[in-house]
Amino acid sequence: MAVRKKIKIIGGGFAGVKCALTLRKKLKRDEADIILYNSENYMVFQPLLAEVVGASISPEPVAVPLRQMLPGVYCRTEDILSIDVDNNLVEYLGNQGKRGQMHFDHLVIACGSSVNLGMIPGMADHAYPLKTVGDAVALRYHVMQQMENAEIAEDVYNRRWYLSFVVVGGGFSGVEVAGEINDLVRDTRKFFRNIPKEEIKVTLVHSRDQLLPEVSSKLRDFTRVKMEQAGINVVLNRRVSHVTPQGVGFDDGITIDGATIVCTVGNATAPVIQKLDAPKERGRLLTEPDMKVKGHTNVWAVGDCAYINNSYNDEPCPPTGQFAERQGRQAAMNIVREIKGKETKPFYFRPLGQLCAIGGHNAVAEFLGLHISGFLAWFLWRSVYLFKLPTFSHRLKVGFDWAWEIFYSRDLAHPKADLTERVGKSHFQPGDYVFKEGDPSNNFYVIESGEVEVVRGAGTDDEKVLAILGEGDFFGEMALIDNRYRSSAVRARTELEVTVMGKKVFEQISGALRPFKDFLADAVKRRSGSMWQKLPGVFDILNEQPLSTFVKPVLISLDPNDTFETAVKTLSEEELDFCCVVNSSNKIEGILTRTDIFRAVEAGSTPHTKVSEFMTTSPIVVTENDSCTIVAATIRDHNLKWIPVVDNLNNLYVKGYIRRDKMINFVLDKLHDHNEASVQAQGS
Ligand SMILES: Cc1cc2nc3c(=O)[nH]c(=O)nc-3n(C[C@H](O)[C@H](O)[C@H](O)COP(=O)(O)OP(=O)(O)OC[C@H]3O[C@@H](n4cnc5c(N)ncnc54)[C@H](O)[C@@H]3O)c2cc1C
Repeated sequence: MAVRKKIKIIGGGFAGVKCALTLRKKLKRDEADIILYNSENYMVFQPLLAEVVGASISPEPVAVPLRQMLPGVYCRTEDILSIDVDNNLVEYLGNQGKRGQMHFDHLVIACGSSVNLGMIPGMADHAYPLKTVGDAVALRYHVMQQMENAEIAEDVYNRRWYLSFVVVGGGFSGVEVAGEINDLVRDTRKFFRNIPKEEIKVTLVHSRDQLLPEVSSKLRDFTRVKMEQAGINVVLNRRVSHVTPQGVGFDDGITIDGATIVCTVGNATAPVIQKLDAPKERGRLLTEPDMKVKGHTNVWAVGDCAYINNSYNDEPCPPTGQFAERQGRQAAMNIVREIKGKETKPFYFRPLGQLCAIGGHNAVAEFLGLHISGFLAWFLWRSVYLFKLPTFSHRLKVGFDWAWEIFYSRDLAHPKADLTERVGKSHFQPGDYVFKEGDPSNNFYVIESGEVEVVRGAGTDDEKVLAILGEGDFFGEMALIDNRYRSSAVRARTELEVTVMGKKVFEQISGALRPFKDFLADAVKRRSGSMWQKLPGVFDILNEQPLSTFVKPVLISLDPNDTFETAVKTLSEEELDFCCVVNSSNKIEGILTRTDIFRAVEAGSTPHTKVSEFMTTSPIVVTENDSCTIVAATIRDHNLKWIPVVDNLNNLYVKGYIRRDKMINFVLDKLHDHNEASVQAQGS
């Protein structure tokens, strides 16, 4: 009797599911064990995710349970960690975090692609991706929350911001989700009192000169015109360069505000494929014409993770559900042929066409050679996807939701999925506000890199910078502790990365960790009440002086490539207790103090260790345009003996340094003169 083959499939998406179904149909149970691994216990029907965001359908029907869909297939909800192709083993992360291995006779890799939000600074911190059911549900909730925020916003500026939505990427998913958000907000605004039509702004940003590169030029134009008629602002030929909590920005300094940013660009190779030593093209596994991974006889790749040539037109297949499904089916047929000793066939598929919903009951379609747009295309789009849903019960559910929408408005109730508060990260551009005066206090912040300024009266004629904070500093604690609104704003001076701690996490940590609590109490005492209230005379003296009064030129500096030996010699021979470390363009790279030298000795530095390895990087600096009062406050707040002065925070060219002693002596002299003068005045 022939040995039962072990066929393993990684990934329960379009490709993996179709492959498993076909294999089960074609091979008897005593011929093959079919085992499918997927990270979740359901398949995500991604083409309908945008409909979930727009509340056109509920989330459940787009998550199709694998077990019920695949009778006779052993479904394991597990992550595959790595593949050992030489020994025909897959390594999985099993129950209770235990790792295990399983042998295969044939392996089908169908793990799709991952999302990479890291390509654009700030995108990972502030944008919503759209890949999983969780993404769609979170985005839908967020959109609805912005409408609720707009309804009760007290000023127009904030209301407009809440009602601004930016979608990045003008491919299928970007167009669909922009259309859905626009429909959701505009269709349901009648239930709100304070959402004027003209304040809703949905912007779709695309890097090319036309949307939907996959369809014909005529349909692309139709898409843009229809979307613009529906009130969507289509921005073409622009590439987003960074994202902040305020919105998106471009290289030329132009920004578009938005309380909601959706990112539909940035695909990355799935981690298990990254680790696999096999030929790849743009991160996708290169295959032979029959879909075997190049150089292997029993490892196959299908779907978005594979780079497969279509022998129908000799072109690489696009990463779409339509192709993934066909590849899954034909790879299964080839495995069956191989097991039965027959010849495999190259992948061959005549594409059926493209369909994309663009909002407002419109779609564009290229179907069996026909080009259709408008309502008819939209009807076709819905019919095709209804038919494509894998099970009858899911078709019924979606059909019911769509029928409901004909008679009733989209459902605005969206139960809040309260997540446990987390510690997250945020990115800001220079000039962005982390929070403003009067904002509610929700978070505590620790600076990972960059500088901020604490400002009172921001944006007014009386704006006053109270303090400058840099790497390792924290802020936001006072309003949290006192449970009050922010009494000052915090604004980024440079590009800024902060760790953000939610209020509950902050309270838990500060309550449980005694040293942290004491440290905070100390900071609160130091920061509460401006130091100038207690020293009004000093403020007046410093406020009258230009900063140049105190700036001394840097005569001796070190280079980051200088050695430990040179650094020690320089500090001792010149009797310095600090030194700036600058590169060949005079840009400050760090500072070196005697403490750094002692630390380097403790860390086992040799005479040849480079200065860059033990200097203090990202030191707090001030610019030559800062006022004397802010420099004095910064020196005091950080207990510094001296501070470097740079031209501005972009260039960071060293202009000199200011010593604390010099400032103090200057103030004491002035106070002394002032006292003498008043004694003389009294005497005369
Ligand atoms: C918002 C959106 C809209 C889209 N609209 C359309 C459309 O209208 N038409 C169209 O044709 N295509 C559309 N697509 C593209 C289409 O969904 C994909 O091409 C298709 O899902 C690819 O199928 P796949 O099986 O290769 O991967 P996926 O469907 O992504 O499935 C991969 C599966 O593998 C699992 N997995 C990954 N790594 C591991 C691991 N190490 N261990 C275990 N499991 C793992 C994942 O959890 C996932 O379930 C859309 C995509 C998106 C995101």
